[in-house]
Amino acid sequence: MPKVMLITGASRGIGAATARLAAAQGYALCLNFRERRDAAEALLSEVRSIGARAIAVEADVADQEQVVHLFSRLDAEFGSIDVLVNNAGILERQLRLDEMDRARLERVFAVNVFGSFLCAREAVRRMSTRNGGVGGAIVNVSSIAAKLGAPDEYIDYAAAKGAIDSMTLGLAKEVAAEGIRVNAVRPGVIRTEIHASGGEPGRVARVSSSVPMGRGGEAEEVAEAILWLASEKASYTNGAILDVSGGR
Ligand code: NAD
Repeated sequence: MPKVMLITGASRGIGAATARLAAAQGYALCLNFRERRDAAEALLSEVRSIGARAIAVEADVADQEQVVHLFSRLDAEFGSIDVLVNNAGILERQLRLDEMDRARLERVFAVNVFGSFLCAREAVRRMSTRNGGVGGAIVNVSSIAAKLGAPDEYIDYAAAKGAIDSMTLGLAKEVAAEGIRVNAVRPGVIRTEIHASGGEPGRVARVSSSVPMGRGGEAEEVAEAILWLASEKASYTNGAILDVSGGR
């Protein structure tokens, strides 16, 4: 039986790269998407052509009812989950704090933080050996912004990712005895569409010049780290936050 992986926000970027790599490694896949159905369906065809059993499920991870529906679709198709990749995330336009309103803060925390909590809760309920599950692994996608703070750009996003780091540390301890490992990756500047929402077209190039390795990263390079943390090769790695940032 192939292991079952749920990836949130899978239709593009790091999520899509993770899906392709997971399919090549033999996982069955539940691909969550919120927008761009065409991209999600194209990815679904692609991973199926590699031989993966896969479904795509539309859901906003910030919405509790939609998350419950997402997991019920997963239950109906696969009956279990081995790996959750909490990848869905948003970044809003670059602003200083005095220009940020509450609605923006709520959006940023709703997707990045509450979405990850809600999905982790549903996954733990199914994975836990206390509930008759067989254990599993959760990989959260944080950001190097949590460490750097992202001043003058997105301290809200940095703070939200800081919350993901703390959740990773706490949940890893809380559910270790139930057979579940919880880890995170902290990507640096990765060439994906998320930067378009930042509002500064040249940001990736500007920030890349300050990376010790001298370049931005590719989504596939983050996917490799996610797949390792998800795998049995990382069987004694729990509560770890792995920077994938070119040394930034
Ligand atoms: P991306 O914008 O290409 O992908 C984000 C995905 O999340 C998209 O598919 C989007 O539709 C989905 N999404 C957004 N809100 C959602 C919601 N409410 N419900 C379900 N899906 C939703 O960007 P990416 O770079 O691939 O981002 C993936 C993750 O990596 C994010 O958590 C992001 O914060 C994190 N990250 C990215 C970078 C980077 O430089 N690209 C750096 C650090 C961390």
